[in-house]
Amino acid sequence: MLRLHNTLTRAEEQLQPAEDMLVRLYTCGPTVYDYAHIGNFRTFVFQDLLCRYLRYRGYQVRHVMNITDVDDRIIQNSKALGIPLKEYTTRYTEAFLEDSRKLRILPPDIMPLATDHIPEMVQLIRRLEEKGYTYRRSGIQPGARVDADRYEKDEARDFVLWKAAKEGEDFWETELGPGRPGWHIECSAMSMKYLGETFDIHCGGVDLIFPHHENEIAQSECATDKPFVRYWVHPEFLIVEGEKMSKSLGNFFTLRDLLAKEHRPEAIRHLLLSVHYRKQLNFTADGLHQAHSALNRLENFSLRMSEKADSSDPCPSFFEQVRLAREKFIEAMDDDLNTSAALGVLFEFVSTTFKMLDQGSLSGGDARTALGFAREADQVFDVMPEQQTLLDSQIHQKIEERLAARRRRDFAEADRIRDWLLSQGIQLEDTREGTRWKRLH
Ligand code: AMP
Ligand code: ZN
Repeated sequence: MLRLHNTLTRAEEQLQPAEDMLVRLYTCGPTVYDYAHIGNFRTFVFQDLLCRYLRYRGYQVRHVMNITDVDDRIIQNSKALGIPLKEYTTRYTEAFLEDSRKLRILPPDIMPLATDHIPEMVQLIRRLEEKGYTYRRSGIQPGARVDADRYEKDEARDFVLWKAAKEGEDFWETELGPGRPGWHIECSAMSMKYLGETFDIHCGGVDLIFPHHENEIAQSECATDKPFVRYWVHPEFLIVEGEKMSKSLGNFFTLRDLLAKEHRPEAIRHLLLSVHYRKQLNFTADGLHQAHSALNRLENFSLRMSEKADSSDPCPSFFEQVRLAREKFIEAMDDDLNTSAALGVLFEFVSTTFKMLDQGSLSGGDARTALGFAREADQVFDVMPEQQTLLDSQIHQKIEERLAARRRRDFAEADRIRDWLLSQGIQLEDTREGTRWKRLH
């Protein structure tokens, strides 16, 4: 059973979704005022790993991630550039999605935009208002917020639910009056709309615990009188020279900065996943270098195993070795997603298998099984080279080419084509009736 550290209880707990094998998951998405930096992507890649591992363990996941497409910085920046808010946020939302694709982050099932959910937020604020939890300042905004906003508030712990329209800024005409939502109310309104008033897991970086997530709990539970979220999971910071990577400190890299320096996105993904999520990840050139080496090793493994693989059965002892490695892999991941331990299991397995190959004690069936396990672990980590899936028509064409090579007695070429197909997981068998083929994985 998967155990997760729950920030709410400050303890590791067994995950038990409210409904059988369905996990309802909400992750706080990006604020699209600029490119996301690699620190933000540590959090997003972790959230992707959580989703993938839940699926690997047989859960169905309904993943909702919002896009915060209205806030002070967005308004300021779009005004400074003289372009409409929507045009500005679309630009950075697309950049975020493109970067996410490069990092192999699977898209969430639902990705709501804050600006598409103003009525839901207004309705939630009205519920709070009816129950007497809010107050209005300057005529229209109920509640007040802790940080630097220039709105009056009765107490430091209050926060703004709705901000009154200001001269020259974007606003929505609503029954609360003209204005725009505060950040916290967004996530409560959208998560409850798509996942229900109580759902299973809520994620975000540790900097969101307070005030963002505490405020989400306060406003959601006051409105519904139900527990809001059952498990809160917060990945730690990515840091640079001892400090949190952040836009305001100026110590950040975007994914684009790193790709421009010829770093591979899979290596960056590997680096981001190599440290347990509850530990800070110190981002260094050396770490990136090591991630590249790890990736090369996996690629080399994948290549050499596909060369060696055939469809014979693995030896019982090797099969047992794979079974044990899988068990240890799952044990590490079940232990609060201990990715560094799980990768340790995988790389140890790779080393022993390479050793067997070099000693000539690895059979074709063993190689196929070994590759199968590495690919299975990679369903969760997704750093290995994409598996080329050849279309049937492409396979038939290659078989024709091989036949032609044989007819002109170019056996070297014929063998080359056969080996190449095998490296792509396609095994040929020459029979009296002609060449048959099958897929190995
Ligand atoms: P934002 O776009 O600022 O709302 O941040 C998006 C996500 O990135 C949030 O979950 C933050 O908690 C997270 N985040 C921000 N800085 C870092 C960092 N240095 N390391 C890891 N996660 C971060
Ligand atoms: Zn949020």
